Amino acid sequence: MIKKEYYAVIVGGGASGIMCAIAAKSKNRNLKIAVIEKNDRVGKKLLSTGNGRCNLTNSRLTADKYAGSFVPKAEKMFRKYTTDYIVNIFKQLGLLTYADYDGRYYPVCRQASAVLDVMRFACERLGVDIFCNETAKSIKKADNFFCVTTENHKFISQKLVIACGAKASPKLGGTASAADYLKNLGHKIIPFSPALCPVKVKSDLLKSLKGLRASGRAALADRNGSIIKNESGEIQFTENSLSGICIFNLSLYTKQNYIIILDLLPNYSFAELFNLITKQKSLFYNRPADDLFAGIFQKRLGQAILKMSNIKDFSRFCSSLTENEINLVCRTIKQMEFEVIQNEGFDRAQCTLGGVCGEEIDENTMESKIVKGLYVCGEAIDICGECGGYNLHFAFSSGHNAGENL
Ligand SMILES: Cc1cc2nc3c(=O)[nH]c(=O)nc-3n(C[C@H](O)[C@H](O)[C@H](O)COP(=O)(O)OP(=O)(O)OC[C@H]3O[C@@H](n4cnc5c(N)ncnc54)[C@H](O)[C@@H]3O)c2cc1C
Repeated sequence: MIKKEYYAVIVGGGASGIMCAIAAKSKNRNLKIAVIEKNDRVGKKLLSTGNGRCNLTNSRLTADKYAGSFVPKAEKMFRKYTTDYIVNIFKQLGLLTYADYDGRYYPVCRQASAVLDVMRFACERLGVDIFCNETAKSIKKADNFFCVTTENHKFISQKLVIACGAKASPKLGGTASAADYLKNLGHKIIPFSPALCPVKVKSDLLKSLKGLRASGRAALADRNGSIIKNESGEIQFTENSLSGICIFNLSLYTKQNYIIILDLLPNYSFAELFNLITKQKSLFYNRPADDLFAGIFQKRLGQAILKMSNIKDFSRFCSSLTENEINLVCRTIKQMEFEVIQNEGFDRAQCTLGGVCGEEIDENTMESKIVKGLYVCGEAIDICGECGGYNLHFAFSSGHNAGENL
């Protein structure tokens, strides 16, 4: 086993860890900094972000886009680490970006690899030592130094940064190791749970809707029926879950038995919808009932709406539908309810809720309040943002914050 000595060792070569190394070296070139990464290359997850385009931040950044115990502190942190701040850091690294109509920033070349390339090149330029294919197996603190043991090395350092993310997406490097290390070092850990993922729901009809996409509004209601969160966008139906970006955003707040309520025509009031469906009924009067929604919904979705409205005989003519049945149909379209079972697992999640308790991290430096010289950044902290670049914004901001303060 080879012994290596560094000023700081960063465990995890993902978004936050690489940014941390760049910030530390940019501030002081003389610091010896090492990044330990268990994959065969750094930033593997970054390459998959934003469907391969990397949505790196968002112009509509506010702390209410996040959930978790670090949120109040993130709010303070974002006063310095604004969207422009992060965009400017990347500009200095050589990356040109643009924002789309939803405020989502991407590289101009629309390739996530560009984000990783400029970060890798900065590490090379600044002289960061990167150790790939090395998993931190144990982390110990002695009087004034840390000792990280991997397969081949024993790293000794004055400062240690935990930037090894969380459990989401294990194929891209997601593990629970951050929680294990931090727990052993005396930190309180909020249990990990998958977030930004499809939500499994109870429904006999979901199988028949598999593969369908519809646009609309999705609301999450708690067990008392109070609305917790509203989202709009594309809703995807899978065999046993609801999916799509708006469902991913709701997944941050779901609990068992909560209800997801879909409004499939949110631009129509109930009265307007009633008139519309009554018009359809007379237009298609001599056609089977499942033609009622021709021109509005896909056939399978129309059939599901009829079944949920207790209209099971599709061979009936549209003209036979009563006023009461039209009422029920309109209610189903405006309030299609699905009871939540649970979020899909970590392998289908883009992010993780849980991690080190936010109260135990100083938001001015990302240093632990429990262990001096220990810093934590990125997803290892109990905070998770909605889709739209908010998670990478947090990873880059917290990584930069830690790096500047090492
Ligand atoms: C498919 C997908 C798409 C996404 N798209 C977006 C998007 O467009 N915009 C956005 O804002 N967010 C997106 N995210 C979320 C975002 O990628 C993460 O929030 C972000 O990467 C977290 O950064 P991190 O540095 O904390 O962790 P990571 O980027 O996960 O990096 C942690 C690193 O630590 C390494 N590691 C773990 N344990 C050890 C160990 N014991 N020893 C050594 N190394 C270790 C891992 O291999 C990994 O490389 C997406 C996530 C996924 C899965």
